[in-house]
Amino acid sequence: MNALLNLQPAGKYLPQRLLGEDWTAYEGCSRFGVSWRASRLNHLTKNELRSALGVSLRVHENPFEKLTHTQASPSKLLELSPDQTIDTKHWPMEFWWPFGGPIPWEAMPWRLRICPACARHCYHSMLFQAPGVHHCPWHRVALIESCPRCDRPLLAGTREGLPIGACPCGHDMVDYVETIEGDSATLKKKQDAIEGYGIWAACSRRVSYLVPPTQYDARAWHALHGLAVPAPNALLPGQHGLPNMLASDLILERVSMERAIRHNMRQLSPKSGLESPKPSVVALPSSWKDPLTHIGAELTRMLPPSALKRLSSDPNSRSAMRHLSIFAGINGLYLHTESLEPTTLHMLSSLASALQADRHKAKEDTLSTRAKAHPLAPPVIHRTILRVLSRGYADGARVTLGRHAPELYDNARTRPKTRLPWVVICLPPKLLPSARIAWTPQPGTV
Ligand SMILES: [Zn+2]
Ligand SMILES: [Zn+2]
Repeated sequence: MNALLNLQPAGKYLPQRLLGEDWTAYEGCSRFGVSWRASRLNHLTKNELRSALGVSLRVHENPFEKLTHTQASPSKLLELSPDQTIDTKHWPMEFWWPFGGPIPWEAMPWRLRICPACARHCYHSMLFQAPGVHHCPWHRVALIESCPRCDRPLLAGTREGLPIGACPCGHDMVDYVETIEGDSATLKKKQDAIEGYGIWAACSRRVSYLVPPTQYDARAWHALHGLAVPAPNALLPGQHGLPNMLASDLILERVSMERAIRHNMRQLSPKSGLESPKPSVVALPSSWKDPLTHIGAELTRMLPPSALKRLSSDPNSRSAMRHLSIFAGINGLYLHTESLEPTTLHMLSSLASALQADRHKAKEDTLSTRAKAHPLAPPVIHRTILRVLSRGYADGARVTLGRHAPELYDNARTRPKTRLPWVVICLPPKLLPSARIAWTPQPGTV
């Protein structure tokens, strides 16, 4: 029997609350973060965990993905905080997302990103997943997606039945004592950064509209980080721009407007054919002739004379080349869009459709309804279409040429490549609009 215990009045050394009931230092914590801390502190059995989380986690599943996308009621999870200090307002990605339009869940992979200092407390915020955020704003350390010791993905351990945060290499990112207390030293900084970023992201969503590709892109995050405009340092401190590994193979283009330009130039006719995502012959403004024929000339220059000779003498190759050609007509140019990558063609169709009479209800938030509200939206969308078409045509034609002239694959500079376009159209009220395009090279074609 412990004599000391007998001398104390009952309850004096008992903590004020049960273990892990105090969530005050967990401002901005995600649903995953709440589940993470609850599961680590309480050593819950599988059944208890399922009951608390509202979902059952199977060994092969990614718990982060499952907890983020679940529709299950969080009531059991919220019971962990009797004084209601868990705020579900910060759980949905929509709160942190800096672009207007739906979040393209289908187009992007979903990997957990954490701050190693926050992870000691089992703290995770959806802010760490947001495009353009690369450092923890209160610890100022770089966010990571893999184990700092062995480079396995962060949740590799859960597949082997290990608790969240523990890696099969033996490294555990969680500190048990620090998880009981929470990181109260950074609470004020957390509150400031979350409030500031939340206001900024809401404004950014109203100005920037994201048009994602219509297919899954393994490099989606390269594009999203490249397209995001970083939040001002006063609102989100500690960011240092786009990390090199993300910027390296990405092509970023910017489309801007000068007020002096006559904006009625280079208009696409309402029935150009480009608004359809199916390959066809499209009618383009005659002023687009120079940039497009320039691409054709560049492609021809890439071919050695022997390949050129072969292409002009072989009937199959000649017919393929005809499909790549641009034809001048009375009312403009004609181009066969069969050579364009289907996703690029889809992008062009989304942009061209946004310029047409709106079939959607005026209240729906689409690029089309936004474009109607900004007088300079049509010219900036037209320019974006020309840029997407130019690179899409250059890439697509090179892939087609490569089938008939394999010499193109011999040289890294001329090698045919497939890239997917991601577009952000910025329509700030009463200011000049602009657009950004990010092209992600597709695996196997780099
Ligand atoms: Zn941190
Ligand atoms: Zn490891």
